[in-house]
Amino acid sequence: MKKIISTISAVLVLFGLSSSVISVAKATEFFTIGTGGPTGVYFQTGNAICQMVHKAATSADHGRKKGTSKPYRCTAPSTGGSTYNIGKIMQGEFQFGVAQSDWQYHAYNGSKPEKVKPFNGLRAVFSVHPEPFQIWARKKAKVKDFQGLKGKVVNIGNPGSGQRGTMEVLMEAKGVDNSYFKSTQELTSSQQVKALCDGAIDAFGYSVGFPNGAMEEAAVCAAKAMPINLTGSEVQKLIDDNGFYAKAVIPKGTYTGQKKDVTTFGVMATVVTSADVSEEMVYTVTKAVFENLEGRYGFKDQHDAFKFLDPKNMIKNGLSAPLHPGAVKYYKEKGLM
Ligand code: GLU
Repeated sequence: MKKIISTISAVLVLFGLSSSVISVAKATEFFTIGTGGPTGVYFQTGNAICQMVHKAATSADHGRKKGTSKPYRCTAPSTGGSTYNIGKIMQGEFQFGVAQSDWQYHAYNGSKPEKVKPFNGLRAVFSVHPEPFQIWARKKAKVKDFQGLKGKVVNIGNPGSGQRGTMEVLMEAKGVDNSYFKSTQELTSSQQVKALCDGAIDAFGYSVGFPNGAMEEAAVCAAKAMPINLTGSEVQKLIDDNGFYAKAVIPKGTYTGQKKDVTTFGVMATVVTSADVSEEMVYTVTKAVFENLEGRYGFKDQHDAFKFLDPKNMIKNGLSAPLHPGAVKYYKEKGLM
Protein backbone atom coordinates (compact mmCIF):
# COMPACT_ATOMS: atom_id res chain seq x y z
CA MET A 1 0.00 0.00 0.00
CA LYS A 2 2.77 2.42 1.03
CA LYS A 3 4.52 1.55 -2.17
CA ILE A 4 1.48 2.45 -4.32
CA ILE A 5 1.03 5.76 -2.50
CA SER A 6 4.71 6.70 -2.79
CA THR A 7 4.63 5.78 -6.48
CA ILE A 8 1.64 8.07 -6.99
CA SER A 9 3.42 10.89 -5.14
CA ALA A 10 6.56 10.32 -7.20
CA VAL A 11 4.57 10.53 -10.42
CA LEU A 12 2.90 13.74 -9.26
CA VAL A 13 6.32 15.25 -8.43
CA LEU A 14 7.59 14.24 -11.86
CA PHE A 15 4.72 16.07 -13.46
CA GLY A 16 5.47 19.11 -11.34
CA LEU A 17 2.11 19.16 -9.58
CA SER A 18 1.69 21.35 -6.54
CA SER A 19 2.27 20.02 -3.06
CA SER A 20 -1.40 20.51 -2.15
CA VAL A 21 -2.36 17.94 -4.80
CA ILE A 22 0.31 15.60 -3.50
CA SER A 23 -1.09 15.79 -0.01
CA VAL A 24 -4.54 14.78 -1.34
CA ALA A 25 -2.96 11.82 -3.14
CA LYS A 26 -1.18 10.84 0.06
CA ALA A 27 -4.42 10.80 1.99
CA THR A 28 -6.06 8.37 -0.44
CA GLU A 29 -6.59 4.91 1.00
CA PHE A 30 -7.07 1.83 -1.13
CA PHE A 31 -9.10 -1.25 -0.37
CA THR A 32 -10.37 -4.41 -2.04
CA ILE A 33 -13.82 -6.03 -2.17
CA GLY A 34 -13.86 -9.74 -3.00
CA THR A 35 -16.67 -10.73 -5.38
CA GLY A 36 -17.39 -13.88 -7.45
CA GLY A 37 -17.18 -15.04 -11.06
CA PRO A 38 -17.21 -12.31 -13.73
CA THR A 39 -20.66 -13.34 -15.02
CA GLY A 40 -22.29 -13.47 -11.55
CA VAL A 41 -24.07 -10.81 -9.52
CA TYR A 42 -21.35 -10.48 -6.82
CA PHE A 43 -18.99 -9.01 -9.39
CA GLN A 44 -21.60 -6.37 -10.22
CA THR A 45 -22.23 -5.78 -6.51
CA GLY A 46 -18.57 -5.13 -5.69
CA ASN A 47 -18.00 -2.93 -8.69
CA ALA A 48 -21.17 -0.92 -8.10
CA ILE A 49 -20.02 -0.31 -4.51
CA CYS A 50 -16.61 0.90 -5.72
CA GLN A 51 -18.31 3.25 -8.17
CA MET A 52 -20.41 4.77 -5.36
CA VAL A 53 -17.36 5.08 -3.11
CA HIS A 54 -15.41 6.81 -5.89
CA LYS A 55 -18.30 9.16 -6.55
CA ALA A 56 -18.40 10.09 -2.85
CA ALA A 57 -14.61 10.46 -2.75
CA THR A 58 -14.60 12.74 -5.79
CA SER A 59 -17.27 15.02 -4.40
CA ALA A 60 -15.55 15.16 -0.99
CA ASP A 61 -12.31 15.96 -2.76
CA HIS A 62 -13.71 18.68 -5.01
CA GLY A 63 -15.64 20.26 -2.19
CA ARG A 64 -12.48 20.17 -0.03
CA LYS A 65 -14.81 20.49 2.90
CA LYS A 66 -13.37 20.17 6.36
CA GLY A 67 -14.48 17.02 8.08
CA THR A 68 -15.44 15.14 4.92
CA SER A 69 -14.06 11.66 4.79
CA LYS A 70 -10.73 11.03 3.13
CA PRO A 71 -10.83 9.84 -0.46
CA TYR A 72 -11.03 6.08 -0.70
CA ARG A 73 -10.38 4.05 -3.83
CA CYS A 74 -11.32 0.45 -4.22
CA THR A 75 -11.12 -2.46 -6.62
CA ALA A 76 -13.52 -5.38 -6.79
CA PRO A 77 -11.75 -8.24 -8.56
CA SER A 78 -13.44 -11.41 -9.69
CA THR A 79 -12.78 -14.25 -7.20
CA GLY A 80 -13.76 -17.84 -6.37
CA GLY A 81 -16.77 -16.65 -4.31
CA SER A 82 -18.09 -16.53 -0.73
CA THR A 83 -15.78 -18.74 1.31
CA TYR A 84 -12.71 -17.60 -0.61
CA ASN A 85 -13.63 -13.97 0.15
CA ILE A 86 -14.10 -14.66 3.86
CA GLY A 87 -10.66 -16.35 3.96
CA LYS A 88 -9.01 -13.34 2.30
CA ILE A 89 -10.71 -10.91 4.71
CA MET A 90 -9.45 -13.04 7.59
CA GLN A 91 -5.89 -12.80 6.21
CA GLY A 92 -6.27 -9.02 5.86
CA GLU A 93 -5.79 -9.19 2.08
CA PHE A 94 -9.34 -8.03 1.32
CA GLN A 95 -11.10 -5.44 3.46
CA PHE A 96 -14.60 -6.39 2.28
CA GLY A 97 -16.24 -9.25 0.46
CA VAL A 98 -19.60 -10.45 -0.75
CA ALA A 99 -20.65 -13.71 0.89
CA GLN A 100 -23.73 -15.89 1.23
CA SER A 101 -25.57 -15.57 4.54
CA ASP A 102 -25.05 -19.30 5.30
CA TRP A 103 -21.25 -18.95 5.00
CA GLN A 104 -21.27 -15.72 6.97
CA TYR A 105 -23.03 -17.61 9.77
CA HIS A 106 -20.73 -20.64 9.66
CA ALA A 107 -17.53 -18.55 9.49
CA TYR A 108 -18.51 -16.38 12.45
CA ASN A 109 -19.75 -19.32 14.54
CA GLY A 110 -17.07 -21.77 13.43
CA SER A 111 -19.83 -24.28 12.76
CA LYS A 112 -18.59 -25.78 9.47
CA PRO A 113 -14.78 -25.60 9.74
CA GLU A 114 -14.31 -28.10 6.92
CA LYS A 115 -16.01 -25.67 4.52
CA VAL A 116 -15.20 -22.17 5.81
CA LYS A 117 -12.45 -21.14 8.24
CA PRO A 118 -13.76 -20.10 11.68
CA PHE A 119 -13.36 -16.32 11.95
CA ASN A 120 -14.97 -14.56 14.90
CA GLY A 121 -13.53 -11.23 13.70
CA LEU A 122 -15.99 -11.34 10.78
CA ARG A 123 -18.41 -8.39 10.78
CA ALA A 124 -21.59 -7.76 8.79
CA VAL A 125 -22.13 -4.50 6.89
CA PHE A 126 -25.44 -5.04 5.05
CA SER A 127 -27.25 -7.60 2.95
CA VAL A 128 -28.03 -7.25 -0.71
CA HIS A 129 -30.20 -9.48 -2.95
CA PRO A 130 -31.73 -12.90 -2.28
CA GLU A 131 -29.96 -15.87 -3.84
CA PRO A 132 -32.19 -18.88 -4.43
CA PHE A 133 -30.15 -22.08 -4.63
CA GLN A 134 -30.75 -23.33 -8.16
CA ILE A 135 -30.07 -26.55 -9.97
CA TRP A 136 -30.18 -25.90 -13.68
CA ALA A 137 -30.48 -28.94 -15.94
CA ARG A 138 -30.40 -29.20 -19.71
CA LYS A 139 -33.69 -30.23 -21.28
CA LYS A 140 -32.48 -33.51 -22.85
CA ALA A 141 -31.20 -34.75 -19.47
CA LYS A 142 -34.88 -34.91 -18.35
CA VAL A 143 -34.14 -33.99 -14.74
CA LYS A 144 -37.35 -33.09 -12.93
CA ASP A 145 -36.18 -33.12 -9.31
CA PHE A 146 -33.10 -33.84 -7.19
CA GLN A 147 -33.56 -37.62 -7.58
CA GLY A 148 -33.38 -37.12 -11.33
CA LEU A 149 -29.72 -36.14 -10.99
CA LYS A 150 -28.80 -39.76 -10.25
CA GLY A 151 -26.25 -40.97 -12.81
CA LYS A 152 -25.85 -37.51 -14.40
CA VAL A 153 -22.79 -35.34 -14.98
CA VAL A 154 -23.10 -32.53 -12.46
CA ASN A 155 -21.05 -29.40 -11.77
CA ILE A 156 -20.84 -28.99 -7.99
CA GLY A 157 -18.87 -25.72 -8.27
CA ASN A 158 -15.30 -24.62 -7.62
CA PRO A 159 -13.83 -24.90 -4.11
CA GLY A 160 -14.07 -21.47 -2.45
CA SER A 161 -17.47 -20.74 -3.90
CA GLY A 162 -20.59 -20.50 -1.81
CA GLN A 163 -22.41 -22.56 -4.42
CA ARG A 164 -20.05 -25.50 -3.80
CA GLY A 165 -20.64 -25.41 -0.06
CA THR A 166 -24.42 -25.11 -0.35
CA MET A 167 -24.58 -27.87 -2.98
CA GLU A 168 -22.75 -30.15 -0.55
CA VAL A 169 -25.10 -29.18 2.29
CA LEU A 170 -28.04 -30.12 0.05
CA MET A 171 -26.39 -33.41 -0.95
CA GLU A 172 -25.80 -34.23 2.71
CA ALA A 173 -29.42 -33.42 3.54
CA LYS A 174 -30.52 -35.74 0.72
CA GLY A 175 -28.16 -38.42 2.03
CA VAL A 176 -25.99 -38.68 -1.11
CA ASP A 177 -22.34 -38.11 -2.00
CA ASN A 178 -20.54 -37.60 -5.31
CA SER A 179 -20.98 -41.26 -6.24
CA TYR A 180 -24.70 -40.58 -6.72
CA PHE A 181 -23.79 -38.83 -9.96
CA LYS A 182 -22.11 -40.31 -13.01
CA SER A 183 -19.36 -37.78 -12.47
CA THR A 184 -18.85 -34.36 -10.91
CA GLN A 185 -17.05 -31.28 -12.15
CA GLU A 186 -15.60 -28.31 -10.26
CA LEU A 187 -16.20 -25.63 -12.86
CA THR A 188 -16.44 -21.97 -11.91
CA SER A 189 -19.71 -20.09 -12.32
CA SER A 190 -18.49 -18.52 -15.55
CA GLN A 191 -17.46 -21.87 -17.07
CA GLN A 192 -20.57 -23.83 -16.12
CA VAL A 193 -23.07 -22.22 -18.49
CA LYS A 194 -20.91 -22.89 -21.54
CA ALA A 195 -20.38 -26.49 -20.37
CA LEU A 196 -24.17 -26.93 -20.00
CA CYS A 197 -24.86 -25.35 -23.40
CA ASP A 198 -22.24 -27.60 -25.02
CA GLY A 199 -23.71 -30.71 -23.39
CA ALA A 200 -20.48 -31.37 -21.45
CA ILE A 201 -22.48 -31.43 -18.19
CA ASP A 202 -26.14 -32.25 -17.51
CA ALA A 203 -26.68 -29.87 -14.62
CA PHE A 204 -25.09 -27.45 -12.20
CA GLY A 205 -25.94 -26.11 -8.74
CA TYR A 206 -25.63 -22.36 -8.22
CA SER A 207 -26.75 -19.85 -5.62
CA VAL A 208 -27.18 -16.56 -7.43
CA GLY A 209 -29.44 -13.53 -7.65
CA PHE A 210 -32.10 -13.33 -10.34
CA PRO A 211 -32.85 -12.46 -13.03
CA ASN A 212 -29.37 -12.64 -14.44
CA GLY A 213 -27.87 -12.79 -17.89
CA ALA A 214 -25.79 -15.94 -17.45
CA MET A 215 -28.87 -18.01 -16.48
CA GLU A 216 -30.86 -16.52 -19.36
CA GLU A 217 -28.06 -17.73 -21.62
CA ALA A 218 -28.52 -21.27 -20.22
CA ALA A 219 -32.27 -21.00 -20.93
CA VAL A 220 -31.91 -19.89 -24.55
CA CYS A 221 -28.83 -21.83 -25.71
CA ALA A 222 -28.97 -25.32 -27.25
CA ALA A 223 -29.39 -26.82 -23.75
CA LYS A 224 -32.77 -25.07 -23.26
CA ALA A 225 -32.02 -25.43 -19.57
CA MET A 226 -34.38 -24.69 -16.65
CA PRO A 227 -34.00 -24.70 -12.87
CA ILE A 228 -35.70 -27.63 -11.10
CA ASN A 229 -37.82 -27.51 -7.93
CA LEU A 230 -35.90 -28.31 -4.75
CA THR A 231 -38.56 -29.21 -2.22
CA GLY A 232 -39.53 -32.12 0.04
CA SER A 233 -38.94 -32.92 3.69
CA GLU A 234 -35.11 -32.70 3.59
CA VAL A 235 -35.20 -29.19 2.13
CA GLN A 236 -37.96 -28.18 4.55
CA LYS A 237 -35.79 -29.41 7.42
CA LEU A 238 -32.86 -27.28 6.19
CA ILE A 239 -35.18 -24.25 6.24
CA ASP A 240 -36.69 -25.12 9.64
CA ASP A 241 -33.34 -25.78 11.31
CA ASN A 242 -31.35 -22.83 9.93
CA GLY A 243 -32.32 -19.16 10.18
CA PHE A 244 -30.10 -18.29 7.20
CA TYR A 245 -32.16 -20.44 4.80
CA ALA A 246 -35.61 -19.48 3.57
CA LYS A 247 -38.08 -20.76 1.01
CA ALA A 248 -37.42 -19.04 -2.32
CA VAL A 249 -39.43 -18.80 -5.53
CA ILE A 250 -38.26 -17.80 -8.98
CA PRO A 251 -41.52 -16.62 -10.55
CA LYS A 252 -42.62 -18.07 -13.88
CA GLY A 253 -41.55 -15.99 -16.84
CA THR A 254 -38.31 -14.88 -15.16
CA TYR A 255 -36.42 -16.73 -17.89
CA THR A 256 -37.31 -17.44 -21.51
CA GLY A 257 -39.42 -20.61 -21.64
CA GLN A 258 -39.99 -20.76 -17.86
CA LYS A 259 -43.67 -21.68 -17.69
CA LYS A 260 -43.93 -22.39 -13.95
CA ASP A 261 -42.73 -20.94 -10.68
CA VAL A 262 -39.60 -22.67 -9.46
CA THR A 263 -39.61 -23.37 -5.72
CA THR A 264 -36.40 -23.90 -3.81
CA PHE A 265 -34.54 -22.66 -0.72
CA GLY A 266 -32.20 -19.72 -0.64
CA VAL A 267 -29.78 -17.44 1.14
CA MET A 268 -29.02 -13.72 1.07
CA ALA A 269 -25.98 -12.15 -0.53
CA THR A 270 -24.28 -10.06 2.16
CA VAL A 271 -21.38 -7.63 2.37
CA VAL A 272 -18.95 -8.50 5.14
CA THR A 273 -15.75 -7.06 6.57
CA SER A 274 -13.36 -7.58 9.48
CA ALA A 275 -13.38 -6.09 12.97
CA ASP A 276 -9.83 -4.91 12.08
CA VAL A 277 -11.07 -2.61 9.29
CA SER A 278 -11.36 0.99 10.47
CA GLU A 279 -14.67 2.50 11.51
CA GLU A 280 -14.07 5.36 9.08
CA MET A 281 -13.62 3.05 6.09
CA VAL A 282 -16.73 0.98 6.85
CA TYR A 283 -18.75 4.12 7.58
CA THR A 284 -17.67 5.61 4.24
CA VAL A 285 -18.63 2.50 2.28
CA THR A 286 -21.97 2.17 4.08
CA LYS A 287 -22.82 5.81 3.54
CA ALA A 288 -21.82 5.72 -0.13
CA VAL A 289 -24.12 2.74 -0.72
CA PHE A 290 -27.16 3.92 1.27
CA GLU A 291 -27.02 7.43 -0.16
CA ASN A 292 -26.89 6.17 -3.73
CA LEU A 293 -29.55 3.47 -3.69
CA GLU A 294 -32.18 5.29 -5.72
CA GLY A 295 -32.36 7.10 -9.02
CA ARG A 296 -30.83 6.64 -12.40
CA TYR A 297 -27.34 5.14 -12.02
CA GLY A 298 -28.16 4.44 -8.36
CA PHE A 299 -27.32 1.02 -6.88
CA LYS A 300 -30.80 -0.40 -7.54
CA ASP A 301 -30.43 0.55 -11.17
CA GLN A 302 -27.16 -1.35 -11.65
CA HIS A 303 -28.65 -4.86 -11.87
CA ASP A 304 -32.14 -6.36 -12.06
CA ALA A 305 -31.37 -8.45 -8.97
CA PHE A 306 -31.07 -5.20 -6.95
CA LYS A 307 -34.55 -3.87 -7.85
CA PHE A 308 -36.16 -4.72 -4.53
CA LEU A 309 -33.41 -3.56 -2.19
CA ASP A 310 -34.92 -1.91 0.87
CA PRO A 311 -32.73 -0.23 3.52
CA LYS A 312 -34.82 -1.67 6.38
CA ASN A 313 -34.18 -5.22 5.17
CA MET A 314 -30.58 -4.58 4.18
CA ILE A 315 -29.58 -3.85 7.77
CA LYS A 316 -31.13 -7.00 9.21
CA ASN A 317 -31.93 -9.83 6.75
CA GLY A 318 -29.29 -12.53 6.49
CA LEU A 319 -26.89 -10.91 8.96
CA SER A 320 -25.63 -13.19 11.71
CA ALA A 321 -22.15 -11.80 12.43
CA PRO A 322 -22.28 -8.61 14.55
CA LEU A 323 -22.62 -5.40 12.56
CA HIS A 324 -19.36 -3.46 12.20
CA PRO A 325 -19.38 -0.27 14.37
CA GLY A 326 -18.73 1.86 11.25
CA ALA A 327 -22.00 0.59 9.73
CA VAL A 328 -23.90 1.00 13.02
CA LYS A 329 -22.69 4.62 13.24
CA TYR A 330 -24.27 5.37 9.86
CA TYR A 331 -27.51 3.48 10.57
CA LYS A 332 -27.98 5.32 13.87
CA GLU A 333 -27.20 8.68 12.31
CA LYS A 334 -29.93 8.07 9.71
CA GLY A 335 -32.44 6.76 12.22
CA LEU A 336 -32.46 3.35 10.55
CA MET A 337 -31.62 1.72 13.89
N1 GLU B 1 -23.29 -17.17 -4.36
C1 GLU B 1 -22.15 -17.45 -5.20
C2 GLU B 1 -20.96 -17.86 -4.36
O1 GLU B 1 -20.82 -17.47 -3.25
C3 GLU B 1 -21.75 -16.29 -6.09
C4 GLU B 1 -22.86 -15.71 -6.88
C5 GLU B 1 -22.48 -14.52 -7.73
O2 GLU B 1 -21.32 -14.42 -8.15
O3 GLU B 1 -23.35 -13.68 -7.96
O4 GLU B 1 -20.11 -18.52 -4.84
